[in-house]
Amino acid sequence: MWTSYAHISTWGILLARTSNEGPSQQGISYFICPMKAPGVSVRPIIDMTGDHAFNEVFLDEVRVPRDYLIGEVNQGWRLAKVTLGNERVALSGEGSLWGRGPTAKDLVDLVRTSGVAHTALERDDLVQCWAHGEILRLLRLRLVSAALAGRDQGPEASVRKALADDHGQEVMGLANRLAGAAGMLNGRGPGGVDGAEGASWTYGFLYAQALTIGGGTSVVQRNIIAERVLGLPKDVTT
Ligand SMILES: Cc1cc2nc3c(=O)[nH]c(=O)nc-3n(C[C@H](O)[C@H](O)[C@H](O)COP(=O)(O)OP(=O)(O)OC[C@H]3O[C@@H](n4cnc5c(N)ncnc54)[C@H](O)[C@@H]3O)c2cc1C
Repeated sequence: MWTSYAHISTWGILLARTSNEGPSQQGISYFICPMKAPGVSVRPIIDMTGDHAFNEVFLDEVRVPRDYLIGEVNQGWRLAKVTLGNERVALSGEGSLWGRGPTAKDLVDLVRTSGVAHTALERDDLVQCWAHGEILRLLRLRLVSAALAGRDQGPEASVRKALADDHGQEVMGLANRLAGAAGMLNGRGPGGVDGAEGASWTYGFLYAQALTIGGGTSVVQRNIIAERVLGLPKDVTT
């Protein structure tokens, strides 16, 4: 399920169980798999924004040459964690939808220029939302400087992702609320205008629901933070 861009990818990452011995996280190997290999089939999933970004992928009797093994046999879980850590960083650009789309500051600018009257409570929410955006911007700079200094992206990437995903929903939820009743319509944003700008806010509101699921759910990110940053006891379910 959920394999993003499988329909346009040349390669996929394939984690396969290659041994049943030892703890369950041992015995997984990390392969790259050509998406055109015989037995690989890709079925599109259209999400509620109307886009085709992810897919169901089926592997039937697919054979992968030995050369496509990355690292050691049965040691794939360690590499997978590196891949997932890098994914968290890749999803951490400035826009509030995993690095794409408008930011909290864009929302504040739009409200300011469109002159739409808002209540004291809504203005308070806007200030909070802007402040969260600034905190995330600084956290992102910290991650970038760690990367430039050659340090690993550690659990801090989980902290950033957990905060950023909630923040993305905060930005898009607030934009939708500020659009008032018009926010129920396709293509209408908080600026009170139709067209591309309005459509980007509608799209963002629908897309933002995915943020706390994709790339590892927010709840699971919080488990990682609890165990690896705060040193709390291990989650009983893992
Ligand atoms: C837009 C999008 C794109 C995606 N692209 C890809 C992709 O390209 N490749 C890919 O492999 N996957 C992709 N995914 C899948 C994504 O990584 C998974 O959906 C996500 O990691 C959650 O896993 P799951 O769906 O199995 O949910 P589950 O792990 O079954 O979780 C279900 C619920 O249980 C909760 N839960 C699970 N474990 C715990 C726990 N230990 N403690 C407390 N609560 C828990 C979760 O928070 C969630 O609410 C994508 C998902 C989305 C939304």
